[in-house]
Amino acid sequence: MSFGQPPHILVVGGGYVGMYTALRLQRRLRQGEATVTVVEPNSYMTYQPFLPEAAAGNLEPRHVVVPLRRVLNGCRVVSGSVTGINHAQRVAYIAPNQGAPHDLHYDILVACPGSIARTLPIPGLAERGIGFKSVAEAIHIRNKVIERMDAAASSTDPQLRRRALTFVFIGGGFAGIEAIAELEDMARDACKFYPELSPSDMRWVMVEASGRVLPEVSPAMGLYTLKQLEHRGIEMKINTRVKSLADGHVVLDSGEEFDAETIVWTAGVKAHPLLANTDLPLDDRGRIRATAFLQVDGVEQAWTAGDCAAVPDLTKGEGATTSPSAQHAVRQAKVLADNILADLRAEPIAPYEHKYAGSVASLGLHKGVADVYGMKLRGWPAWLMHRTYHLSRVPTFNRKARVLADWTLSLFFRREIVSLGSFADPRASFRAAATPPGAPAVAAPGSAAQQPALAGKPAGRAEATGQTETNGSAGAARKSPAPARTAGPAKTPGGTPLA
Ligand SMILES: Cc1cc2nc3c(=O)[nH]c(=O)nc-3n(C[C@H](O)[C@H](O)[C@H](O)COP(=O)(O)OP(=O)(O)OC[C@H]3O[C@@H](n4cnc5c(N)ncnc54)[C@H](O)[C@@H]3O)c2cc1C
Repeated sequence: MSFGQPPHILVVGGGYVGMYTALRLQRRLRQGEATVTVVEPNSYMTYQPFLPEAAAGNLEPRHVVVPLRRVLNGCRVVSGSVTGINHAQRVAYIAPNQGAPHDLHYDILVACPGSIARTLPIPGLAERGIGFKSVAEAIHIRNKVIERMDAAASSTDPQLRRRALTFVFIGGGFAGIEAIAELEDMARDACKFYPELSPSDMRWVMVEASGRVLPEVSPAMGLYTLKQLEHRGIEMKINTRVKSLADGHVVLDSGEEFDAETIVWTAGVKAHPLLANTDLPLDDRGRIRATAFLQVDGVEQAWTAGDCAAVPDLTKGEGATTSPSAQHAVRQAKVLADNILADLRAEPIAPYEHKYAGSVASLGLHKGVADVYGMKLRGWPAWLMHRTYHLSRVPTFNRKARVLADWTLSLFFRREIVSLGSFADPRASFRAAATPPGAPAVAAPGSAAQQPALAGKPAGRAEATGQTETNGSAGAARKSPAPARTAGPAKTPGGTPLA
C-alpha cells in the first residue's frame, strides 16, 4: 500500500462477480477509503441467462448486457485483459484492447475472470464449432440459422438443403437445452415465411454424453424436458458422444453419420486459463482454491468467487464446492464485497452459505420447466416463472424496463426473422467497390488472409486469455510471471458429464 494513498482494489473481470462486487464496493466505500479498478475486455457485463432469448429474437441483444462505464461510474474501468498476476508483488499484467501491454499495481485483488468453454480434442471441433457464452456467439448463431434457411429455401439441391437445415447442439445442460429449444422455436415460427420450407425439412439434434438432460432440475423434470423436445421433433441423442466433426461431417459413437453446417458446443465450462499465469493456489480442476469467506486460500489480500473459484459449499458435505452458476455468483459477490469492506475496517468477515434453490429454464415461447425450492412447474406456468425470475434478477432498473418493453412488444408483433450476418464484415461491399477491376481482392484487416506471417506464431492474447477475437484486437501477451499450469476438467452448472 503506498504511503498516504487509499488501498487500490483490482477487480479482474467485469462479469457477474466482478460487476456486482464493484457496484457494491462503489456504493458502500466511504470517501477516500479505497479506489476500485475493473479490468474487462468487453465494455459490458453479459446477463447470460438471457442469451437464448436474444438468439431467438425475443430480446434485443443490447438489452441483455449492462454497460460497465455507466453502472460503475465510481470505479475506473480498463478495457483490456489481464494476462498474468504476480500477487506476491501485487502486480497484474494488462493487455489493453488497444495499445501496449503494461503493469498495474494494486493492494487488494478480486480474481473473477469466470470460465471458458470446456472442449475436447474432437477432429473438426475447433474449425466448425461455436460456443454459446457471449452475445456475439448468440447473435452469430441466430444469424446463421436464418441465413441457412434462406440458402435452403433458394436451392433445389436436396443435399445442400439437408446440410444447411441440420443444426447440432452438443451438451444438454441448461445453456444447450435453452439454446436449442429457443432457436428451434424461432426457426419453426420463421418457416411460415418460407413457402419453400416446412418445419419437417429441418433437423435439430441434441447430443448429450450422459443419460439425462438438464441436470440442474430433478430427474423427473429432466425427463419431462427430454420428452417435450422429442415431441417437437428435436432428436435427443443421450448416452451418445461425438467422435468427429471434420469438414462438418458429424460422426457419433452410435455409428450414425450426417452433415451439418451449424454445430454449437455447449458441453460445459472449465476454469479460465489466465489462472495458470498467476501465483494463486489452484485445485486439480484449475480453479482458484478459496475459503468459505471467499478469500484465496492461504493468501493475504486476495479474494475470489464465481465460475473460476473452488468455493466450499457449506450446505453440502466435506469437499463439495459451489456449482458454476449465476445463482451463486451474484450472492458470492455480495458477501465478497462486504468482507472486503469489513476487512478494511478491521471488522469480522462472514462465510458464504447458500443452498442451491433449483433452476428455471425456457424451452421456447410459452414453454418452460422449473424446479425451484422443490416446486415443480411445466409449460406456461414454468415459462412465466422463468421470465418473472429473470426480470427480477437482471441488473439495473434501466435493463428491467427495456427487457419488459421487448417482451410486451412481442405480444403484439411477430418476432424479427432477418439475418444481419453481414455485420461480421460490414466493409466487404465497400472494399469490393473500391478495388479496381482485375486487381486482387483486398482481405479484411486482421483476417488470416491478410496476415499469413502470423500462422504458426505462439498464442497471442486472444488465445492466452481465452477471449474470442470479438473481444478486441489481439495484443502481445505479457510474459507470464508464473509457470503455465494445466487446467483439469470442470463440470457444467449442475455437473453434466459431457459429450
Ligand atoms: C447461455 C447461458 C445461460 C446460463 N443460464 C443460467 C441460469 O439460468 N442460471 C444460473 O444460475 N446460471 C446460468 N448460467 C451460468 C452463469 O451465467 C455463470 O455461472 C456466471 O456468469 C458466472 O459468473 P462469473 O462472474 O464467475 O463469470 P462471468 O459472468 O463469465 O464473468 C467473467 C468476466 O471476466 C471477463 N474476463 C475473461 N477473461 C478476462 C481477462 N483475462 N481479464 C479480464 N477479464 C476477463 C469476461 O469477459 C467476463 O466478463 C448460464 C450461462 C450461460 C453461458
